[in-house]
Amino acid sequence: MNRIYFDYAATTPTDPRVVTAMLPYFNEKFGNPSSIHSFGQETKSAVEKAREQVAKLIGAKPAEIIFTSGGTEADNHALMGVAFANEKQGDHLIISGVEHHAITECADFLKKRGFRATVLPVDKYGLVDPAEVAKAIEAKTILVSVMHANNEIGTVQPLAAIAKVIKERKAALGAKIYFHTDAVQTAGHLPIEVDALGVDLLSISAHKLYGPKGVGALYLRKGTRLTSFLHGGAQEGGKRGSTENVPGIVGFGAAAEIARQEMAGENDRVAKLRDKLKDGLLAGIPESQLNGHPTDRLPNNLNITIKYIEGESMLLSLDMEGIAASTGSACSSGSLEPSHVLLAIGLPHELAHGSIRFSLGKYTTEAEVDRVLEIFPPIVKRLRKMSPLYVCK
Ligand code: PLP
Repeated sequence: MNRIYFDYAATTPTDPRVVTAMLPYFNEKFGNPSSIHSFGQETKSAVEKAREQVAKLIGAKPAEIIFTSGGTEADNHALMGVAFANEKQGDHLIISGVEHHAITECADFLKKRGFRATVLPVDKYGLVDPAEVAKAIEAKTILVSVMHANNEIGTVQPLAAIAKVIKERKAALGAKIYFHTDAVQTAGHLPIEVDALGVDLLSISAHKLYGPKGVGALYLRKGTRLTSFLHGGAQEGGKRGSTENVPGIVGFGAAAEIARQEMAGENDRVAKLRDKLKDGLLAGIPESQLNGHPTDRLPNNLNITIKYIEGESMLLSLDMEGIAASTGSACSSGSLEPSHVLLAIGLPHELAHGSIRFSLGKYTTEAEVDRVLEIFPPIVKRLRKMSPLYVCK
């Protein structure tokens, strides 16, 4: 069976050009970048080239990039690093109600260690209101973390407007408040300039932009106070000890370079395909609705709720046809609770359980979209016939 992939938000295949760039760094160029001999200097310069490529993708300086093991580590380092480095000044963090678990669970961890965290509400599209950020900031606030775009519903947050209110409140209170964003779903997909966004810290993950898994970066604006994450080595300016994942970092750099050059054209193409899928599914499936913002959303994200049936059963039926999608509901996420993101935008439990996400990417074709449009509405019809919720409606 021809398998079709609509789960690019979960991970992307590594671009073959990225694989080619990585290959010599497994055996031919294997030196430890900390070694002063030529083997080491060869890999050190490869790591520094990748640092430049990643910095360029987000309008940062190479010295402001710390390589990590991925998005989760970057998020954890941002929250814990700022919290522990600035605890004398304050104990209060602010996050949004739609953050990835790498942020929410880290905030919970910090709460158990004496910090306080305010969780901001979002509107029905998943947007944070900058006025709510202003209201939540107090004299003891040290960090605000609001993601750039949501991984489930695709909503893109008004980061520059949030940065502006943080700046105003900072000036009024005479406080030092850092602004972090989880840009794991946007880096390499939407243009990013850290200065224009007004952020001090930003998380990226290579495997979401056609790079390898297990490597990411934390952007750290010069002057930001951050406690080291791994102790025992001088790598990454002493902020993250451990011998660098050289092939991974080289691949990340190559992926960042390719994304920077190809992003604009790719976004237009993917958004057109996504809109065709959205219009076709919403028209072909009665009692279905779009989740997330209608326009301020990732070009590759489509999240819809389909009444009376469960995301899980839709996924399994699609999988039997060779189509891979995703749901924030029940078992697939390893929890019986529906997605906190869908609950935060106000969906009742039963609708949150009936949601499905299609995320498109650079290898998605129109024929694949047409195949979903052909296969999915009859699947919904069949599942609804078996659903007690539908039969008794
Ligand atoms: N943040 C967001 C918004 C994500 O979508 C993900 C991955 O799904 C992560 C963080 C974690 O990234 P990683 O898988 O590189 O740890």
